[in-house]
Amino acid sequence: MSRPNIVFIMSDDHAAHSISAYGSRVNTTPHMDRLAHEGARMDALYCTNSICTPSRASILTGTYSHINRAPSIYSEFDHRVRTFPEVLQEHGYQTALYGKWHLGRSARSRPRGVDDWRIFPDQGDYVDPVMIGPDGQEQITGYATDIVTQQSIGFLEERDPERPFCLLVHHKAPHRPWIPHPRYGDLYEPGTIPEPETMDDDHATRAEVVREVAMQLDDLRPTDYKDELPPELEGESEDARRARSSWKYQRYMRDYLRCVQAVDDSVGEILSWLEVNELDENTLVVYTSDQGFFLGDHGWFDKRLMLDESLTMPMLARWPAQIPAGTRLTDTLSNVDIAATLLEVAGRGVEDLPDQQGRSFLPQLRGESVEDWRQAVYYRYWEHDDPEHHAPAHYGVRTPEHKYIRYYNDGLGSPGSSDRIMPVEDELYDLVADPREMTNVADDPAYAQVLAEMQALTAQLQAEYGDAPYEGPDTPRLEWPTA
Ligand code: CA
Repeated sequence: MSRPNIVFIMSDDHAAHSISAYGSRVNTTPHMDRLAHEGARMDALYCTNSICTPSRASILTGTYSHINRAPSIYSEFDHRVRTFPEVLQEHGYQTALYGKWHLGRSARSRPRGVDDWRIFPDQGDYVDPVMIGPDGQEQITGYATDIVTQQSIGFLEERDPERPFCLLVHHKAPHRPWIPHPRYGDLYEPGTIPEPETMDDDHATRAEVVREVAMQLDDLRPTDYKDELPPELEGESEDARRARSSWKYQRYMRDYLRCVQAVDDSVGEILSWLEVNELDENTLVVYTSDQGFFLGDHGWFDKRLMLDESLTMPMLARWPAQIPAGTRLTDTLSNVDIAATLLEVAGRGVEDLPDQQGRSFLPQLRGESVEDWRQAVYYRYWEHDDPEHHAPAHYGVRTPEHKYIRYYNDGLGSPGSSDRIMPVEDELYDLVADPREMTNVADDPAYAQVLAEMQALTAQLQAEYGDAPYEGPDTPRLEWPTA
């Protein structure tokens, strides 16, 4: 059989729990669901740094942030680290990338390893966006999700049919500020979207620095919720704050889900094109997002933190020639494994990416069990106390049973952040007894041994991956290229 084609569709900030194939309570995504029903659903795929630029760098290179030197959204991607599209291009694949790049602002930080590309500068715009391509930049009339889909299908139509292709479809949606597609302007009346069970989380046992994070629903801005705030919802009382949070939740979620709906249509259009052109049997179609997102969970929006709604990435994969329909992957996977997996799909190996740190999960996609697969994922959020969200720098480990997080509360600031160094704090969650992560048991004597084991596991994984632990304010700082 000829080498398979790859279509890698990645959206921005799309949480798994807003895909109906993952049991969403808030929306329906028929085309994404089709990938899951006819292919595989990853149930334990985690990002290793829950924010846009770092996750994208990890996906392309198969490395952690300290290796690819893109730990923050202010990073410039270090092109000395090779990417999987470069490998595929060198080995005869036609390659292209359309949509969000967000791996640096300067001319040196343009996509490499792709025969054709169009990217949004930085976050880009939803409506009539500017796009940068090999020949310069131009403004394109239309809605960003449609434009990226059209560019992707244009590449497919003009490709050389004798050679395999790898197409990266990188949607901007559903990233803030959530400007929906006009055709979904009437979807979801305010007040009709179910609130998550954990929305009233009081954070009583959480680390002090987490209680200060400015990602509460009430921190959403007028540009996020758009409608005029009713005057009766103003005020400082707890009742007013709760009512206002609920009101803001309905509005930001309405627009978020409307954005998601157009991304689902894009998945459907690409699947349909592959079928009509009789390419669907031997094409791997992946749908994923660069990280998860809090959808009112724990009273928050946004990502960054290591709690599951933010940590978990959705991933669905359809490839009828190789992936049995209805496959479910429960092994602990990370975004660092994606490059190795796609290389193996294309008949290459990890030796083509000498710095990479992941492992291919293609065997599990084929329905095989892998006895010596890892049981833990290591995570590190590098940015500390950014001026808008005030999310703390932290690292930790998730296993199927427990999650350990150390808020070391120091390190990379972003422009405008304070230099405050706060006391180190730990959190520990028992994911079996408390799957919603409502109670931090780091100070519970009954968990002292678990805490010690998880701390030891964190140190072990830091040593394996070559990431330095935090050892006080004199710990050497990670340096990375900036614009
Ligand atoms: Ca993102």
